Amino acid sequence: MAMIRALQLLADRQVALVDRDAPPAPGLDEVQLRVRAVGLNHIDVWGFRGMAFAKRLYPLTVGAEACCDVVAVGANVTSVKPGDRVVPYSALTCGTCAACVRGRDNLCENVAGVRGFHIDGFAQDLTNHPARLLVKIPEGVAMRDAACVAVAYGTVEHMLFDNARLEPGESVLVHAGGSGIGSVAIGIAKSIGCTVITTVGSEDKAEKARALGADHVINYREDRFEGVVRKLTKKKGVDVVFEHTGADTWAGSLLSMKRGGRLVTCGATSGPMGSLNLMQLFQQQYRIIGSFGAPMSALARALDRIASGVRPVIDTAYGLADFRAGVDRLETRDVFGKIVLEL
Ligand SMILES: [Zn+2]
Repeated sequence: MAMIRALQLLADRQVALVDRDAPPAPGLDEVQLRVRAVGLNHIDVWGFRGMAFAKRLYPLTVGAEACCDVVAVGANVTSVKPGDRVVPYSALTCGTCAACVRGRDNLCENVAGVRGFHIDGFAQDLTNHPARLLVKIPEGVAMRDAACVAVAYGTVEHMLFDNARLEPGESVLVHAGGSGIGSVAIGIAKSIGCTVITTVGSEDKAEKARALGADHVINYREDRFEGVVRKLTKKKGVDVVFEHTGADTWAGSLLSMKRGGRLVTCGATSGPMGSLNLMQLFQQQYRIIGSFGAPMSALARALDRIASGVRPVIDTAYGLADFRAGVDRLETRDVFGKIVLEL
């Protein structure tokens, strides 16, 4: 039996590059993928640390976000062929529940697990995957960029458009503009003609955020961002707040919104608790929207957007064995943009 490399968690906080058996030939409705690159996200940090509530068994191949070449297809597969480049959808959705049928994949009622978190992920040379859970990569998209779509870029696409209904010309506050998703949000919002205010934690990152097109950059270590936002918007506030930092920014985010503004959130990296003044909520007619993952339609739009030139920012590309360095870099917040592992 041929052997392949796999980057596996052996226990909490213990990762190793191991040799394992290559997967069998793909099943009737499956494809076999050669993994080209894997993007790192906070889900990898959680997975690496270990989470008490996550039902899973070690060893577990890491990697929830990937781009791949199709190398073989099962007998029933007509949607892709060997040689096609694809982004695999990370969650093994059922394809038959009401949410799946409506194209709301990330609301599937029968998810069999998220790859790289509950079940073996993509950080291995070859892997099999259901053919219906693939999005084709269009011409002109670099593999390194496509590696940022399944989780990061797709999440931002879904947050800004499906959920917050961001329109050209609106103003948006993007928290942590140097993060993987923050940097993508800046790029997308600028590309459709929005005014972007973003927060960063250092002067070095402020420069990079400006280079990315941010109109106003606030160093949250020096200024209270909500005060600056109110000043910049002549006390009106912004149309949309892009939240993912949670506890540290929640109260300020609510104060940064225009009447009728929308807050969309997909994370709580600084802590999960925040309070909400219900008078403020209804009097200001705020809309607060939780967002998690993205449907496959958002991944396809994300790839088209990258093909049109709105590329993700890559902070660092490591080799497969350097997962630990990548996770450490993600945790230190020195990062500006995405970290990818190339196989
Ligand atoms: Zn389903």
